[in-house]
Amino acid sequence: MDKTLLLDEINARHTLTCACTLRDTATRAVPGDGSADADILFIGEAPGKNEDLQGIPFVGAAGKFLNEMLASIQLDRKDIYITNVVKYRPPENRNPLPEEKAACREWLVEQIRLIDPVLIVTLGRHAMENFLPGKHISEVHGQAFHCVFPDMGERVFFALYHPAAALYNGGMRETLKQDFLKIPDLIKKTKNEA
Ligand code: URA
Repeated sequence: MDKTLLLDEINARHTLTCACTLRDTATRAVPGDGSADADILFIGEAPGKNEDLQGIPFVGAAGKFLNEMLASIQLDRKDIYITNVVKYRPPENRNPLPEEKAACREWLVEQIRLIDPVLIVTLGRHAMENFLPGKHISEVHGQAFHCVFPDMGERVFFALYHPAAALYNGGMRETLKQDFLKIPDLIKKTKNEA
């Protein structure tokens, strides 16, 4: 079956069955957006207010900044896939709890296995810690890591600062923009190694 249809099926099934208790307070699920055939999968932390209202990830100010950085490497939102660790907005945008992340994990794992991206880009500390526990974003941003997981095989991760954190911090903003520019070469390198 077509990958787009399979991804729609995964998102529809988990939207109906996800056991995350954030469902009780969120307006709707925010499954993800973009192409099922993408080389790059971006993973943020959790939907915010605008995302909760629209059902689409990264549509607020951080999303606009992300779109500008994508344009800087000649990419568009339709060329990538973007989702979050947790698919529901936490109340008042608090950090998601470990049990909320755990409840949404199978959904994310199925998305990763189906899309099978060349590169997974984590946005911010929380998304990174999910896959690279014990690492510090200030030390590892802009670097790639090969990791093997029992439920999703070998994956290549690239950790970036979160666009929302970098938006109003000049130094971090510049670092994020510079790190972002490394993505095209990293994709080429990872494809050549495969
Ligand atoms: N921040 C996130 O981590 N995810 C979104 O979807 C929006 C803002």
